[in-house]
Amino acid sequence: MKNIIVIVNQKGGVGKTTTVVNLATALVQSRKKVLVIDIDPQANATTGAGVDKNNLKHSVYDVLINNVALEDAIVKSESCKFDLLPSNRNLAGAEIELVDLAEREFRLKQALQKVKDKYDLILIDCPPSLSLLTLNALSSADYVLVPIQCEYYALEGLTDLLNTVQLMKAKLNPELELLGILRTMYDKRNNLALQVSAQLVEYFDDKVFYVSIPRTVRLAEAPSYGASAVALDIEAVGSQAYIRMARELIKRLREMND
Ligand code: ATP
Ligand code: MG
Repeated sequence: MKNIIVIVNQKGGVGKTTTVVNLATALVQSRKKVLVIDIDPQANATTGAGVDKNNLKHSVYDVLINNVALEDAIVKSESCKFDLLPSNRNLAGAEIELVDLAEREFRLKQALQKVKDKYDLILIDCPPSLSLLTLNALSSADYVLVPIQCEYYALEGLTDLLNTVQLMKAKLNPELELLGILRTMYDKRNNLALQVSAQLVEYFDDKVFYVSIPRTVRLAEAPSYGASAVALDIEAVGSQAYIRMARELIKRLREMND
């Protein structure tokens, strides 16, 4: 079953974590069984899901480095209702420790083997770099989802990223496919955003999700409550955008799997 989606963009602060946490909650609300994997040492998806990163029995670090079984490290986000493989600052050291381990790009993939089929969907939140951690995420995944902020340098970064995905496909994961590009923090009154968006659609056509995510205060403040906006206030404009995005994603997955 193709069910693992990596949310990746080496650019920082483009809405990766916001997308993972809100999309995952929206998918749970559509009765999907969802696992979120936080593979970022910043652990924003972990705290954003209301899980205390300083009080974990095991984390993604132990799975990658200490051979702890992935199912033993999973916790539940009580606020968002998805399962979570949490992260914390230990993971910052993993980058260096991984270098000496066998099959270092495939540690996550191996750990996921036994767990993968227990979920309808697995979403992986990456750090803002093309590091060994991100490579582990990319080699585990079936699909790539790229959140992008429609601003001046966005397209340049995107070309680099898509080249990396092609390289990954050739070297590490021939199955990897681009699921789509999601416009985040999108302001339709901003001319530059409109121009960049038009260029995106020109180059990537229907790979650009029809739904875009607006910039809203609710989406920005939700992490401080340890929950996604979708969990806190389903009627909010930003929550509704992620609900529609989840529907579009499910439809797209169905089409791509046909
Ligand atoms: P990093 O690369 O550091 O992991 P990221 O790509 O995961 O960042 P987020 O943490 O999701 O990006 O978002 C960056 C900041 O922008 C956060 O403060 C977040 O709350 C805010 N943000 C994200 N999406 C929106 C939105 N649609 N409207 C308003 N604020 C947003
Ligand atoms: Mg993040």
